[in-house]
Amino acid sequence: MLDLPLFPMTEGSHREVLDGVSSYTACVSEPPWSTLSAGVRPPERVILAKNMDIDHLESLIEAEGDSDVVVGVGGGSALDTAKFLSWKTGKPLFQIPTITSVDAGFTRDVGVRVKGNVQYIGAVIPETVVVDVDLIRTAPPHLNRAGIGDVLSCMTGLFDWGLACERGEGVAWDADLAALGEELLMELEGSADEVADVTSDAVRWLAGAYRRIGAACMQAQHSRFEEGSEHFLAYSYEFHTGDQQIHGELVALCVVAMAALQTEGEERAVSIISRSGARAHPADLGIEREMFARAVIDLPDYVRRQDLDYSVIDVTPIDHRVADRLWSSVSALPRRAA
Ligand SMILES: [Zn+2]
Repeated sequence: MLDLPLFPMTEGSHREVLDGVSSYTACVSEPPWSTLSAGVRPPERVILAKNMDIDHLESLIEAEGDSDVVVGVGGGSALDTAKFLSWKTGKPLFQIPTITSVDAGFTRDVGVRVKGNVQYIGAVIPETVVVDVDLIRTAPPHLNRAGIGDVLSCMTGLFDWGLACERGEGVAWDADLAALGEELLMELEGSADEVADVTSDAVRWLAGAYRRIGAACMQAQHSRFEEGSEHFLAYSYEFHTGDQQIHGELVALCVVAMAALQTEGEERAVSIISRSGARAHPADLGIEREMFARAVIDLPDYVRRQDLDYSVIDVTPIDHRVADRLWSSVSALPRRAA
């Protein structure tokens, strides 16, 4: 059994938290900030999180006043910007995620963009991550359902890790970490119908799953149990198109594609996505056949160029026929209303 270094997490209202801290700098997403701000004690400073470019972030530090704490309120960029500000200034950090589809609240590393590439430059642990179930449930449902993507990725990720270990590539197998990945997948199967309805329990479960994944990655110092070829395909697709997709939706689609390449687990992945109501059909994500095929066919070169971990991509010839087969698999996913 793993003894995970879990982040502090509390369930409660964002209003109570913001009323309870002394003067604060808020790093926010829009929506929902303008709706929320009417009902809370005003911050010293509001930073609308835009991008994680290092020059932009450094300019935020220069203008930072003497508020006592930093609070992130919103999606990934808000929480990441708050992490950067807290790390740079040493001010205590409170994180209030407003959707369940991002893990930024539960990861320690501060990732920034330097000339377009992500670099990790520091680490910070929040005083607490506040899970405001009612607030999260007001977000567009598909953004919360997208939270399944980074749990579902344990499936293809574990397969790739096992394959790499068989070939003596990369970090050694860890039975406890693998068991955590399997456990998360089984819980996901059990929670899929709740996720479809975005119930309070689904929100709690997703937040708790991210908390465990973040802690396990932090302890192991790698993420092989939950990140493999499906993430590599997602990165390749975004590299080729410059598209900004909802991460969990793109990852869910890529899990189906890579499960098809691994010839294992495709049916299981499709069933979980179908039951959870998550969007993953390429047409719903605006993904076209030609761009998908380009991302697939370039995968072997892409993982080599980026020096990514060993996976099914390294042992399977990938040509146009394979790309066509993977396209058929993802096109069989259910369509969702916008
Ligand atoms: Zn991910």
